[in-house]
Amino acid sequence: MKICHNFSPGPAKLPDEVICRMKDEMFDYQGKGVAIFEISHRSDLFQHIYEKAITLFQEVLKVPSSHKVLFVHGGAAMQFAMLALNFMVKGRRSAYIDSGLWSTKAINAGLERFPNEIDVIASGKDINYTNLPTYNPAEHSHDYAYLHITSNNTIYGTQYKKFPKLGNAPLAIDMSSDICSYPLDFTNIGICYGGAQKNIGVAGMGFAVVREDFLARPPQTPHTILRYQTYHNHQSMFNTPNTIGIYVLGLVLEWIKSKGGLKAMSLESDKKSQLIYQVIDKHAGFYHSKVAKEVRSKVNITFKLTNQPLEDKFLSFANKNELLFLKGHRVAGGIRISLYNALTLSSAKALADFMDIFATQNS
Ligand code: PMP
Repeated sequence: MKICHNFSPGPAKLPDEVICRMKDEMFDYQGKGVAIFEISHRSDLFQHIYEKAITLFQEVLKVPSSHKVLFVHGGAAMQFAMLALNFMVKGRRSAYIDSGLWSTKAINAGLERFPNEIDVIASGKDINYTNLPTYNPAEHSHDYAYLHITSNNTIYGTQYKKFPKLGNAPLAIDMSSDICSYPLDFTNIGICYGGAQKNIGVAGMGFAVVREDFLARPPQTPHTILRYQTYHNHQSMFNTPNTIGIYVLGLVLEWIKSKGGLKAMSLESDKKSQLIYQVIDKHAGFYHSKVAKEVRSKVNITFKLTNQPLEDKFLSFANKNELLFLKGHRVAGGIRISLYNALTLSSAKALADFMDIFATQNS
């Protein structure tokens, strides 16, 4: 197979070992003569795959018994709507922090159903999301049903190093782009959720880790399929689940465990991102990042070339060197480097070396 360095923002690179396992066993699962996607989700064979994925999720993320792991349809975006429908509490309001496009989408989904009960307590829109917005807790209620944040801004390249707090409000966190890239403390988390396609699997597969008292909140939706309780009561199989997605998730979590778990992922993430940020800082006049240093993301690095017409040349030379999918998101422009778990240190090094040479030759 052709060797390339895949910096795709998502769906993103899977670990090579996982791709090999898929090749080996997907079409003839455990010698049974059937492919994974040909078996019923009610079969013993699939039940085993599901249980393995759930157990590994709990183990790798050290999920406490107070929280339940669910696999949910519709990627992360459907959960923007679901979480408001499920966890809004009558007579209370919920708070959101707007730190980028995905936060805005979560806010808008909440507002569609609760136009008067949502407070955006801080927004980075005016500064083009180059920093994480701050707020003064004293100016806000301490009785919010939840505080929603996006842990990592895939498009703009900012990331929380420490989650914010607001009185007693449990956190509702969209972790689509940095789940499993560092150890997580669930103490103040009511729900963390996201799509699997960046760090832990394939597209169309959503996950949610929900605290029991959150699950017990009376949902404000007539639709059974939009209730987290339904997913919990039916082992995430109220209807046919994403069987392939659950299978791949299990393989990726097994791979993370074999590599030393989330501490190891976090250390690797530090090293990969440092390699790239060092080159950006070394050639600060050539590569230009507006993101505040203290909130720089370790998984999505964004910047522009000061000489903007050179960006096309950068991308095409990168392509020729098998450094793929580096174009920034259409709303942000520039370059975006995605360094999820499966992206190796040697790929990050190859890109850092390329950037160094490119800047030297084109300055
Ligand atoms: N939240 C974040 C932080 C994302 O990066 C994305 C996708 N890039 C989404 C939500 C939306 O995910 P999906 O397309 O799976 O709904």
